[in-house]
Amino acid sequence: MANLRIAKIDVFQVDLPYSGGVYTLSGGREYRGFDSTLVRVTTQDGTEGWGESTPWGSTYIAAHARGVRSGIAEIAPSLLGLDPRHVDRINEAMDAALVGHEHAKTPLDITCWDIFGKSVGMPVCDLLGGRTNRALPIISSIYMGDPDDMRKRVAEHRAMGYLGHSVKIGGDPADDAARIAASLADKRPGEFFLVDANGGMTVETALRMLRLLPNGLDFVLEAPCATWRECVSLRRRTDVPIIFDELAINDAAIIQMIADGAVEGIGLKVSKNGGLTKGRRARDFCIAAGMTISVQDTVGTDVSFAGVVHLAQTVPEKYLRCILEVRDLVTVKVADSELRVVNGRVTAPDSPGLGITPRLDVLGEPVASYS
Ligand SMILES: [Mg+2]
Repeated sequence: MANLRIAKIDVFQVDLPYSGGVYTLSGGREYRGFDSTLVRVTTQDGTEGWGESTPWGSTYIAAHARGVRSGIAEIAPSLLGLDPRHVDRINEAMDAALVGHEHAKTPLDITCWDIFGKSVGMPVCDLLGGRTNRALPIISSIYMGDPDDMRKRVAEHRAMGYLGHSVKIGGDPADDAARIAASLADKRPGEFFLVDANGGMTVETALRMLRLLPNGLDFVLEAPCATWRECVSLRRRTDVPIIFDELAINDAAIIQMIADGAVEGIGLKVSKNGGLTKGRRARDFCIAAGMTISVQDTVGTDVSFAGVVHLAQTVPEKYLRCILEVRDLVTVKVADSELRVVNGRVTAPDSPGLGITPRLDVLGEPVASYS
């Protein structure tokens, strides 16, 4: 495979409607659908790899869908002619071409891992360190709403087999306490709850909310406040486990998080954190520091989900909390895969690369090509 060089990069755009109507987050944010970018990289010998980046709108982190495609335009010319299996060199080239914008680098990085796997006949999880023997538990995403309605939606997902739930809060302290109590009211043994404020609380409202909760509720508090200072301040004042998501966006943030003893774990989102090469490093930092990891993506299709599953499949059971079933959030299917959920768990496929087959009729023509 001496001639495995990147010859062409094609960019596709697909709209992914939200499957549940309107998704509501703290701060009055609403989402009805997501603008997805899929990338196909073709090598000189005709091997194809696929990757995806689908930001959670433009109000979640400093990422947005048109920025993904603009970022790829900045980066793509630098990658032509490189060996996609040299994933660290690929990432150096991307970082040299564009500072930051991890969400734009992600689909290019994932395509390289897909090609790497196909070139050696191995699944991506084996290249990332080797699969654990654990089937990965999936978590639902329960948008912020009326407490009784949230309890109902948790129950619906429980009935579908979900083993954990990400419950969104971030408004009034009393309303949030009611949302948490209702969402956890029917909790089963072993069921896992993330209570996610998406940075919507102040230290004051978070502390008031925690005091209003009944004793003994088993959950971790995710992204309570928008800033680092507020979250560290809250950490010093409560014994509730806290995890970072939006604030854990790159190596520097994860190192700082560990140095500060700021949290007990992170939501590691493949596209937020720059793809599988950087996700692998974040995984190793967190394991070395004894942090738990929820492997996720912002949202996406089978292509994003494949990246999530392959990375999560390499995290030892002690440190892996759950994975987000992103496909549940959208109504369009752009690829087929062997990523089947059985009793709330999924296992990385054995087929080479990511193990996905794109539906070219759904993807249509590329919106940009670089060669
Ligand atoms: Mg989150």
